[in-house]
Amino acid sequence: MISFLDLKAINAQYRDELITAATRVIDSGWYINGRELEAFEKEFASYCGTKHAIGVANGLDALILTLRAWAEMGKLKKGDEVIVPANTYIASILAISANNLVPILVEPDLNSYNVDPSHIESAITDKTKAILPVHLYGQLADMPAIMDIAQRHNLLVLEDAAQAHGAILEGKKAGNWGDAAGFSFYPGKNLGALGDAGAITTNDDELASIIRALRNYGSHEKYKNIMQGVNSRLDEIQAAMLSVKLSHLDTEITHRRKIADLYLDGIKNPAIILPTKTQDSAHVWHVFVIRCEQREALQKHLADHGIQTLIHYPIPPHQQQAYKEWNELSYPITEKIHEEVLSLPIGPTIKADDAQKTIQLCNSFEENKP
Ligand SMILES: *Cc1c(COP(=O)(O)O)cnc(C)c1O
Repeated sequence: MISFLDLKAINAQYRDELITAATRVIDSGWYINGRELEAFEKEFASYCGTKHAIGVANGLDALILTLRAWAEMGKLKKGDEVIVPANTYIASILAISANNLVPILVEPDLNSYNVDPSHIESAITDKTKAILPVHLYGQLADMPAIMDIAQRHNLLVLEDAAQAHGAILEGKKAGNWGDAAGFSFYPGKNLGALGDAGAITTNDDELASIIRALRNYGSHEKYKNIMQGVNSRLDEIQAAMLSVKLSHLDTEITHRRKIADLYLDGIKNPAIILPTKTQDSAHVWHVFVIRCEQREALQKHLADHGIQTLIHYPIPPHQQQAYKEWNELSYPITEKIHEEVLSLPIGPTIKADDAQKTIQLCNSFEENKP
């Protein structure tokens, strides 16, 4: 069986380094807000090219706390609208709702699966205060167009970069395009911890300082609480794991691109629609997503021959029970995507031979004719 993402094998590659780092933390006697976090924040900010990186407990918190900080700064208030792609993972939308802001869903582009800037422009109202673009599947959204819209309409931009660590467009990395960005280091992400973790990147000193307080009970100084904060910290062990993983990220991205190119060159079945990339550097292939009208049959064909695939994602946010009020709305492009997408294995331990086997099976798949 070729598994979709073998986390055990991925982390086994760095076993000795991870154990050395974990031992260092255990022996230090210091487990929260210490040297490891400080070091990882510096390394990750430098990797993204931003002035600040602020570690938090997970990717959802990274998004929630950034919007919350803007509310503390008087830049957002209850009822303000935030534009977000309708086909994103639900976390992007939950972060907006959690702050009593109003998510305004807009359709993606069917080729890139990223938000369509022309739909952003037509969704803007007097209440629109921010755009939350998502670099979905690992490819940077059309940030030059989005930043241009934001500038013309005076909107904040929060990138959801949870799937795009290291993606580069026009020389600028994911996390360094908007006013701030949220990253996830969930174990299955391209930069994955050995547990939950996340971070915010920004070039804004005031925003960074407020988020640093918010994540730690609203406090810069122990027992002095300037805001009603939360406990959302990235602990020392995970920070140490992430420093090890970050040092290998670019090698892993190169590997993902090699596997993606094998798929892009090798899959030639007219029943399968391949993903597109705007440029090599802009896509880090968090997932390799194909489309097929008979997705379930293709998934079964691959599974029957030992290839595990996943669906990102089976149910769009507007059809979730959590957002009952949207269940009657229609987003045809988003719905089509959710009905047809299938993700092929592309992790750092997928070998060229595994990819070739997957390619052959994709090419031997025959649609059932009605
Ligand atoms: C994973 C993910 C998140 C949330 O990250 P967690 O660390 O699981 O909270 C947010 N947005 C997107 C697009 C994601 O893929």
